Amino acid sequence: MFEFGFEESKVIKTNAVEQFKQTRSGEKTRVSIISFKKYSDGILAEKQKEKGSALTDMEKAEFISKIDERIAKQLNKSVDDLSEVDRLNVKSPRFAFSYTHYNEAVGTIRCLSKYEGSTVVRPEICCNKFGDAGQTVGMVVMTYPLKEGLEVDMDLLSARKYVNFYIWKMSAQKFKKIEDAYREARGDDKFTIDLNVVLDGDPKFQKQQISAGSSAVWTRLPANSETRAWIMDQGLRMWKHVSSQLGFEMKADKIAEKLGLSSGGGHGGAANEALPKMISSYDDLIG
Ligand SMILES: [Zn+2]
Repeated sequence: MFEFGFEESKVIKTNAVEQFKQTRSGEKTRVSIISFKKYSDGILAEKQKEKGSALTDMEKAEFISKIDERIAKQLNKSVDDLSEVDRLNVKSPRFAFSYTHYNEAVGTIRCLSKYEGSTVVRPEICCNKFGDAGQTVGMVVMTYPLKEGLEVDMDLLSARKYVNFYIWKMSAQKFKKIEDAYREARGDDKFTIDLNVVLDGDPKFQKQQISAGSSAVWTRLPANSETRAWIMDQGLRMWKHVSSQLGFEMKADKIAEKLGLSSGGGHGGAANEALPKMISSYDDLIG
């Protein structure tokens, strides 16, 4: 602890990350999902499938070093010079998922029940009191500087002006629209796309039309462009905050307390079981 006055208060950094929200009915935004899985994630999953059982640490290390060599060769770098960004696969967006409840007394909280797949095998106080949990999906997105309509202003983009980064969290129903947009684009051999998002009605409800735009404009920047690396780096940094946006991890006894129930219900200690499940592959989701 240290004491300070307002003149020093700028040393305190808020960790606040903004959520993507549209503010005017009919507002149009060009959005790009910029959280990505690593090349190795997809390849390791594939190799594990081929093998039919979990890979050993040694096998994983071997595959990863082969993948690194391949990436380094492609980028004309040495393996030692590879960055985290270099290892990302822009064709493979990454999402986080968790079961959540909303209730006025507690706000949005993480579901504490134990699941096998999507089936509750041991319901906790949250499901008992609030009913079935909802499904919340989170990701990192970027919004572009625009000219007219949804046309990107490339000069501003290259200058990194009016480029904004957000965490976008949504219900499973809304996520379905994103899946549909990507599925359509993939049918056209486009893997990294922009989304056209239009606010439909009162901003309070964030009801949105979501459709596939063209291939993501930022991916047309040259591979060695600083702006491109900057965008991917923002995606990595903000990914670390996605989990905390998917509902507060309130303990069972605290929920009971908020609901005015006695807290001796024997449901303690379950709070940490509801860490969000990271979806291992976009393709798994499309399934
Ligand atoms: Zn629950």
